[in-house]
Amino acid sequence: MLTGSCLCGSVKYEYRGELGPIVCCHCSRCRKAQGTAFATNSPINESGFSLLSGKETLREYESSAGKFRAFCSNCGSPVFSRFTGKPGILRLRIGSLDTPVAARPSAHIYASSHAEWFDILDGLPQYEAGVP
Ligand SMILES: [Zn+2]
Ligand SMILES: [Zn+2]
Repeated sequence: MLTGSCLCGSVKYEYRGELGPIVCCHCSRCRKAQGTAFATNSPINESGFSLLSGKETLREYESSAGKFRAFCSNCGSPVFSRFTGKPGILRLRIGSLDTPVAARPSAHIYASSHAEWFDILDGLPQYEAGVP
């Protein structure tokens, strides 16, 4: 089981299941949403995800049609996103995990829109859009 939380600790969750492939998303919306060069996400099964606290502070922002980004409205931490076109899957922001993660990123996605000030220097596959 994995556990995680937001910066202020209001939102706490646990996840019973395996992380999916970790990807670094360089799309402009993720960059804005995180305030960083890329978001580091893993797809997880919504059925294994339980919110332990923070239901009242967790808010969602619909950044494009059907794409909801869940964040703590007290401290601003991004926690996960979900897309109505892919029901049952959450994209966990793995920086919110408190449990150590053994896996490593597998790819860069939306690499074509990466921040001009950030060079992707590792040898991971880079995809123009999502993982094909
Ligand atoms: Zn918070
Ligand atoms: Zn993205």
